[in-house]
Amino acid sequence: MSTTALPAAAEKPIDKRLSLIWGKGADAQQLSLLRTPRADEEKVNGQVQESIRVVTGQQIYKHNHFTDDQFFKHNPQAGLLTNAYGQRVVRVTEDFVVAVLGGLEEELGDAAGEIMYKCGYEWGIADMGSFVPRVQAEYEQAVNKMRMGLLLETWWWPLKLEGWGEWNYDLRQGKQGLIFIDLYESAVAQTIGNIGKVVCYFYAGLFAGVFSVLARRQLSAIEIQCYSMGEDHCKFLIATEKRVNAAAFWRQEGATFKDILGKLNGTVTG
Ligand SMILES: [Zn+2]
Repeated sequence: MSTTALPAAAEKPIDKRLSLIWGKGADAQQLSLLRTPRADEEKVNGQVQESIRVVTGQQIYKHNHFTDDQFFKHNPQAGLLTNAYGQRVVRVTEDFVVAVLGGLEEELGDAAGEIMYKCGYEWGIADMGSFVPRVQAEYEQAVNKMRMGLLLETWWWPLKLEGWGEWNYDLRQGKQGLIFIDLYESAVAQTIGNIGKVVCYFYAGLFAGVFSVLARRQLSAIEIQCYSMGEDHCKFLIATEKRVNAAAFWRQEGATFKDILGKLNGTVTG
């Protein structure tokens, strides 16, 4: 411990956390269950290249498993369920989700949303901590050279398989600092049903954490419309804290997604 003034990084611990994640190299260990014989033949073990090499025939790793059988490994003796990356997962019922959220709300009232947001945010940062080294090994390319679309889809697809829903991201206003996400079949909202207000705080926090890592700066997120308000799907805005707070105010005043979008674009000054 130093007695001199704290370094600037200590004032912004999130910046330090984000740069630590970006500093991680490729980690092929998380992919050990997905290696094909070709990976051994070529002695592939986490090396990265300038661009993604085109591999014809058998791939180095099995990509994108879309069936339960291929993605989940069940060990009934040990009572363990893990995914293809060796991460432990838990299957829960809708009653479980309702009980957790209901219990939080009973104990904390309106603060429950903030707690869920923070849990989602921490999960997002932690998930990126394992995803960044894994994706670099899987595609043999440094993460800062990878295309954003590939990164985002590679990140989301295991979550889709685990029951978190289907998403579409919209980066068209990314240069103006506005990212939008449509979420279909939210595990939270579909469980709770139509109660006339947004409920997916957990996802908002998750998206804030993940996009903070990808953008390398602290971002916030807010759910602007939700399946639990009677809408067809959920919509999120990811932006700076200032804009997200403004959107939260407008949402509270009853503004629709379209109204909020118009107001945000009005505030874009570069
Ligand atoms: Zn929702």
